[in-house]
Amino acid sequence: MCGIVGYIGNEQAAPILLGGLEKLEYRGYDSAGVAVLDGDKITMVKTKGRLKVLADKIHDGADLHGTIGIGHTRWATHGAPSDINSHPHLSRNGKIALVHNGIIENYMQIKALLEGEGYTFVSDTDTEVVSHLIDYYYNGNMIDAIIKAIHRIEGSYALGIISVDHPGELFAVRKSSPLIVGIGNGENYIASDIPAILSRTRDVYFLEDNEIVWLKGDKIKILDTDKHEIKKDVFHVDWDVSAAEKGGYEHFMIKEIMEQPKAIEDTVCPRIQGGEIVLDDIKLTAKQIKALSKIYIIGCGSAYHVGVVGKYVMEKLTRIPVEVELASEFRYRDPIIGKDDLVIIISQSGETADTLAALREAKKRGARILSVVNVVGSSIARESDDVLYTWAGPEISVATTKAYSTQLQAMYLIAMHIGINNGKIDEEQKEHLLAEIQTLPAKVRKIFEDIAPLQNYASKKYGSKDIFFLGRGLDYCVALEGSLKLKEISYIHSEAYAAGELKHGPISLIEDGSLVVALATQEDLFEKILSNIKEVKARGAKVFAIAQEGNTAIEKEADFVVYIPKTENIFTPSLTVVPLQLFSYYVAVNKGCDVDKPRNLAKSVTVE
Ligand code: GLU
Repeated sequence: MCGIVGYIGNEQAAPILLGGLEKLEYRGYDSAGVAVLDGDKITMVKTKGRLKVLADKIHDGADLHGTIGIGHTRWATHGAPSDINSHPHLSRNGKIALVHNGIIENYMQIKALLEGEGYTFVSDTDTEVVSHLIDYYYNGNMIDAIIKAIHRIEGSYALGIISVDHPGELFAVRKSSPLIVGIGNGENYIASDIPAILSRTRDVYFLEDNEIVWLKGDKIKILDTDKHEIKKDVFHVDWDVSAAEKGGYEHFMIKEIMEQPKAIEDTVCPRIQGGEIVLDDIKLTAKQIKALSKIYIIGCGSAYHVGVVGKYVMEKLTRIPVEVELASEFRYRDPIIGKDDLVIIISQSGETADTLAALREAKKRGARILSVVNVVGSSIARESDDVLYTWAGPEISVATTKAYSTQLQAMYLIAMHIGINNGKIDEEQKEHLLAEIQTLPAKVRKIFEDIAPLQNYASKKYGSKDIFFLGRGLDYCVALEGSLKLKEISYIHSEAYAAGELKHGPISLIEDGSLVVALATQEDLFEKILSNIKEVKARGAKVFAIAQEGNTAIEKEADFVVYIPKTENIFTPSLTVVPLQLFSYYVAVNKGCDVDKPRNLAKSVTVE
């Protein structure tokens, strides 16, 4: 959930650690800390709050001497955010310092055992048991102590460890929490994610579960739990460091909204070659596709909303029944699922804990797993049979925009691929769909050409108490995302309803001045949604509508209208979502919210 950075080399470690942690801020955190090895002692500073508070305390790192260190941003799971609960955590003799990302599920038992051995605990965290446990097992060999400790602990962890008995060494290990190794020249790194080290090196190793890293300035050893050395391929990161920075925009969110045409292009265009869909990473054969009896789509939050669109689109194009489920429900509900079922897993980070658990549950039952992820080498990607990477680039803003949009493209590509292979899409339809999907980037750009009226409208609506989103068919699917976007960044209460459901309850909420966002892009349902707009208007609502170009009849009913370019019905969500993202963004900016880091939220939800 949080961020880990470790450095070993010849430079002063603390400023490098702070710089790395800053690049991991997007992951969400409530406190931060660093520890450096300085001769025969560990110096540790940690604090609740923003990284800036920590940086100010240590004068941007200048106060801490030492060329080996570990840094951490914490998103509390056990024990409230506080200075004492912040990481690093020390062993009882102060000789070992450790940072941890994840949850130690059996920490109570271990704590009881260690207390019986005379250990005392200073924090409320699950993490502290690990620093004491390593100390408990330590008899001169850190690797042995770490292996014993990880055999004993249950749960998820990425750990970075330093010890005064091992000057010139840094240790790390992971299980179900992300961690990479950065390969430098006379210096090396560990980090939760690539942006943390990208200004220092572009060569990395991805770590698998239970691989133990032993770093010196000029040496990297990766060992399994039998202490056998593991040889790994170096992964060279070829995206630019500026791609992970704001690039002139006020917030990452607006930058990422504006990056959507390119992200869609990057995700779709290389997959269409010579009039065919080419999905290199998908090994699912035509025979397997024909045998598919059911498709499940699983995700959390916005990824789930992509799945809802995916259901509508996939059933239409493949005529295979599709169920879409929240990962947190699926994993515990004993689903009926078998070898002729395809499970599509959607996660931007590829590390979402509930989604990963759902994947494992489905796999156990014999289903084939196709994942849609944005992070190469992530846990979900590695554990899937097939992966379709979204090429959205790093997404820093907590509220997803370009990842959502590229996940939609993945749904289209998969649906078309299956439909073509099971004979439900004929040649003519294929040609039409492939031509149309490639026009989407230009159509999104067209929406950007005239956003001033929307910006102005949002600046008048930021005081709303409740906002309702209505739609039918695919518009309903997008309404779900529009409502989530608004509430997560502006803290305005909002709900999305299938417009046909209005009369079954929600209409009682409509009162004089209520704001209703009505999505009216579905040609075949246009008259129906128009009636719903009339119904809410009659009860005093103000209506902001989104319609396809040309459907000007909407202007008679709605107070404010944004038009999207015309497109094939299944692709409308790719366009409709854009004004909704912009509306949420401008509302949140006008309210003065911390748009990129909304309260209580984290980008990559790697704990349950
Ligand atoms: N479970 C640990 C804690 O609450 C680590 C949380 C995190 O991953 O930041 O301190």
